[in-house]
Amino acid sequence: MVTQSEWLAIKNNDTNYDGKFWYAVSSTKIFCRPSCPSRLPKRENISIYSNPDQALADGFRPCKRCRPLNAIVSNEIWVKEIDNFLEENYSNNITLEYLANEIHGSESYLRHVYKDLTGMTPQQRLTIIRLDAAKSMLINSENPVKSIGEQVGISNPAYFIKLFKNQFGVTPKQFQSKKHDINS
Ligand SMILES: [Zn+2]
Repeated sequence: MVTQSEWLAIKNNDTNYDGKFWYAVSSTKIFCRPSCPSRLPKRENISIYSNPDQALADGFRPCKRCRPLNAIVSNEIWVKEIDNFLEENYSNNITLEYLANEIHGSESYLRHVYKDLTGMTPQQRLTIIRLDAAKSMLINSENPVKSIGEQVGISNPAYFIKLFKNQFGVTPKQFQSKKHDINS
């Protein structure tokens, strides 16, 4: 039995329903997440599951396209995985699209879930990680500001200085010389 809201979610590939239910299709023996972009099945062939393990137990195979078993991962764990990824890869050029690919989610779902749980977007979090890394590089090295910006993945020096000042109230240069004052 498929409710109207479930049917609409499947029809519209609605990412907001991912993790809330899974749907299995009797004609293909495959089960999917609501957001799956594959062809819309006949409504009468659909069964709804509140848990993907149950669909597996009933003999359905997970769809290769939407990988419904990824959705078992709770959002809290998912956000931690995203943070770990950002902390290890902050020096690379990371777009939302790239991040979504790496962690196997859609861009809109990723942004939505991440913001819901942390209050910030993945990009905002990435900037904080980068600026914190820059701060410790400024403390621990004599590298020029421009190269520190590059090392933390912000290659435009003017933009790096602007972000740093917004976050810490001083420019990287001021921060670096202040440190020298303290040390001397
Ligand atoms: Zn699918």
